[in-house]
Amino acid sequence: KLAEYTALRDEPSVTRDGVKVGLMLNAGLLMDLPNVVETGAEGIGLYRTEVPFMSRGSLPNVEDQAQLYTRIQDACGDRPVVFRTLDVGSDKVLPYWHGQPEDNPALGWRSIRISLDRPAILRSQLRALIRAAAGRELRVMFPMVSEVAELTAARAVLDMELAREEKLHGPEALPSHVKVGTMLEVPALIWQLPQLLKRVDFVSLGSNDLVQFLYATDRGNPKVADRYDVLSPPVLCAVDQIARQCRAAGVPLSICGEMAGRPLEAMAMVALGVRTLSMTAGGIGPVKMMLRSMHVGQVEDYIRALMDLPDHSVREKLRFFAQDHGV
Ligand code: PEP
Ligand code: MG
Repeated sequence: KLAEYTALRDEPSVTRDGVKVGLMLNAGLLMDLPNVVETGAEGIGLYRTEVPFMSRGSLPNVEDQAQLYTRIQDACGDRPVVFRTLDVGSDKVLPYWHGQPEDNPALGWRSIRISLDRPAILRSQLRALIRAAAGRELRVMFPMVSEVAELTAARAVLDMELAREEKLHGPEALPSHVKVGTMLEVPALIWQLPQLLKRVDFVSLGSNDLVQFLYATDRGNPKVADRYDVLSPPVLCAVDQIARQCRAAGVPLSICGEMAGRPLEAMAMVALGVRTLSMTAGGIGPVKMMLRSMHVGQVEDYIRALMDLPDHSVREKLRFFAQDHGV
């Protein structure tokens, strides 16, 4: 199998009916960088900036961060990199950050909530990202956004840092262009899409968190892991609604949760209109192989007929469908 995946590296990720699907990499460690070239990924669809913050003894300064972000951009060459701002709290703990214990950390002071309440950290991070992207494209993504106002506030901090950099070092020190996106991982944001989509350049669906919140089921607790399935009508309906609205607004949508890297799940997401998937390196070969044998139109017709099933049977039905159709 591995040899077959390697052989596919330079082949296009296009379905049998000609739908092109972008495959990107999720990364966080320097060790992940060679995978961009080795897997033939189009770029990094999710760079988790909290990972290097977690492996240190203290908060990195602007200079340290700028060096790191430059290395990442350099390793990717012309391929895009989506830098997600600090997503700490809940399951991602900084060893040198002593916050108050919370009863419900997944629902607590985390991620963009910390970034907006402690803007010095966000500013230093954005400053470093701007510096590392001088003369090239910068893509920034904000995590755990639950209201449009949070995105607007975070974007204002980015604009402030861009203006500062220009004032200090001139327009040539700025990125060639800046794209701002948001994670969609809090269900409340689904019903703010009309307003949100006017204010972002791209959206990435974080299914790990979105599904945990849709089902009120802790993503890290094995005792409840079998209580729901990502391939279930509620999740499929949510993705369907999100994908329709993004398409109508002309805003690119990707999925960067774990499900993007599993062939059966990826097949379902593509059938519902998702055209970019971001995943760990090991997922790219299997997902590309699946894509090249799938027919989007056929799977779409089939999956739409499953969307009101009242139980856990979607996965099994999809698996049989895939086997019968040589996917
Ligand atoms: C997600 O929630 O799906 C996601 C990609 O972010 P993380 O797993 O880093 O929370
Ligand atoms: Mg998340």
